[in-house]
Amino acid sequence: MKWITGAQNTWCPGCGNFAVQHALKDVFADLVAEEERRAEEFVLVAGIGCHAKIADYLAVNSFYAIHGRTLPVATGITLANPELTVVACAGDGDAYAEGLGHFVFAAKRNTDITAIIHDNRVYGLTTGQYTPTSYTGFRGRSTPSGVKERPFNPIELALASGATFVARAYTRRLDHLREVLRRAILHRGFSFVEVLQICATYNNLTAAYNDQVYELDGHDTSDLNAARERAREWDYSDGAPIALGVFYETEREREAWPPMGRLPDHQRREVVRGVLEGRR
Ligand code: SF4
Repeated sequence: MKWITGAQNTWCPGCGNFAVQHALKDVFADLVAEEERRAEEFVLVAGIGCHAKIADYLAVNSFYAIHGRTLPVATGITLANPELTVVACAGDGDAYAEGLGHFVFAAKRNTDITAIIHDNRVYGLTTGQYTPTSYTGFRGRSTPSGVKERPFNPIELALASGATFVARAYTRRLDHLREVLRRAILHRGFSFVEVLQICATYNNLTAAYNDQVYELDGHDTSDLNAARERAREWDYSDGAPIALGVFYETEREREAWPPMGRLPDHQRREVVRGVLEGRR
């Protein structure tokens, strides 16, 4: 099966999006070869930003959402047909700024989605403005004197919001990225993978990341407090060691909404009508 489309690729040379695309393609291909999934069961939802072009380049079912609305669209798809494997790709601006409320609630509801956040800590498509995870002092197009705020930590946020799979990977560690994405996709419930991604043009942190990252070893992924401790090691601004790998994994009942794909047509209409009329 051909996993890459013929669309012209317009990412900058050296962009971390290439690594995410190739890792995801390999995981999809492996899962199909192992008969864990069928190719037609994958749905890729992308937001707005450089990352979103992945929906043009990977040859799977895909849907472009509007900015910040990747997760609600992915939620709708998984509710309509729970048999699908729904992967939502979003940028850091998309997921942690415009779409922050959706991120928190998808984690809280434990919706069966794999959320891959391409965190290059800058708005690349709009040429270099700061995002919620840009480090203090970052000089971008909208902050020529440097960002005054502190970044927030998405790993801590996901843990606090109830995500049942929380991980971090790095685009310059491709084998590890593949391994983490595979585990996330096979997890049932809300899985969150924060990918530290190089923006080669507006925020190239390769040297810092290469120096700071390490892979978790001997960490108990069932221990929420241990996960919090590891998450707090690095505050997204300082030069502390940056843990990569699965911080936390658990099983929890998924959202109480009825999976609409399993309802007869008349009940589905009732559910949709209820939502539209604000009764649910
Ligand atoms: S601007 Fe940055 S994120 Fe966008 S394609 Fe170029 S390197 Fe990649």
